[in-house]
Amino acid sequence: PVILRLSSVTKTYTNGCHALLDVNLEVKEKEFLFITGPSGSGKSTLLKLLYGEELATEGEVIVDQFNMASLRGDRLSLLRRRIGIVFQDYKLIRQRTVAENITFVLQAQGYTRKEIQRRLEPTLKLVGLLSKADCFPDQLSGGEQQRVSIARAIVATPPLLLADEPTGNLDPDNSWQIMQILQKLNSFGATVIVTTHDEQLVRKCNHPVVQVRNGQLYRK
Ligand code: ADP
Ligand code: ADP
Repeated sequence: PVILRLSSVTKTYTNGCHALLDVNLEVKEKEFLFITGPSGSGKSTLLKLLYGEELATEGEVIVDQFNMASLRGDRLSLLRRRIGIVFQDYKLIRQRTVAENITFVLQAQGYTRKEIQRRLEPTLKLVGLLSKADCFPDQLSGGEQQRVSIARAIVATPPLLLADEPTGNLDPDNSWQIMQILQKLNSFGATVIVTTHDEQLVRKCNHPVVQVRNGQLYRK
């Protein structure tokens, strides 16, 4: 089964910049897909179309059976709950502890305290941060902060995980740790899409690669 599909999608920003030009992409459930390409080639734009941060100018974007063109309000929130998102700059809340950063989304979504507690520990364990639950982001290394942001993205067990340059600020060792966590999540059944310009990292993993160049997609 297909979890998302882009059909003849063009994204033109209001300033006239064509970030994506007539692209097609189909991703199957439980697939692990790399999206590579130089800076400014359209990788982030592609992900933004998938989580509803930008709308396609032309063409159709279907994610988890939702048509993104007509998705607003409650239904967009509903889809976002089925998508975990990881950013290059972590986007953690500095005034909140690791545990609070991870459980914040669950609280907002009305999970009970018991259910939140039930989910927190295995999630912390998975990213190797059980001992850091009560630390604040500033007390953690970059690699640890990225692992917190992954924990936050997956604590509600979304079937789709999108990571936009998740290793962009990390050294090779930390990057590899992050990749191993993402691959483990994929082995548990999540569909994972990772953008990166780190060719070496891509080569170390045996996953399909789509390259973005000049707003076009190329299967490698
Ligand atoms: P990448 O993630 O590969 O670095 P982006 O998707 O961020 O690439 O950008 C693709 C192109 O779209 C670039 O030329 C960039 O300048 C342009 N772009 C991205 N976001 C915007 C925006 N909000 N407004 C105008 N142009 C944008
Ligand atoms: P809404 O914008 O409709 O209130 P949410 O409350 O679901 O939607 O999400 C608010 C913001 O939190 C989103 O813009 C998104 O960037 C972020 N977010 C939501 N869910 C997740 C998640 N599972 N992982 C990472 N970030 C998320």
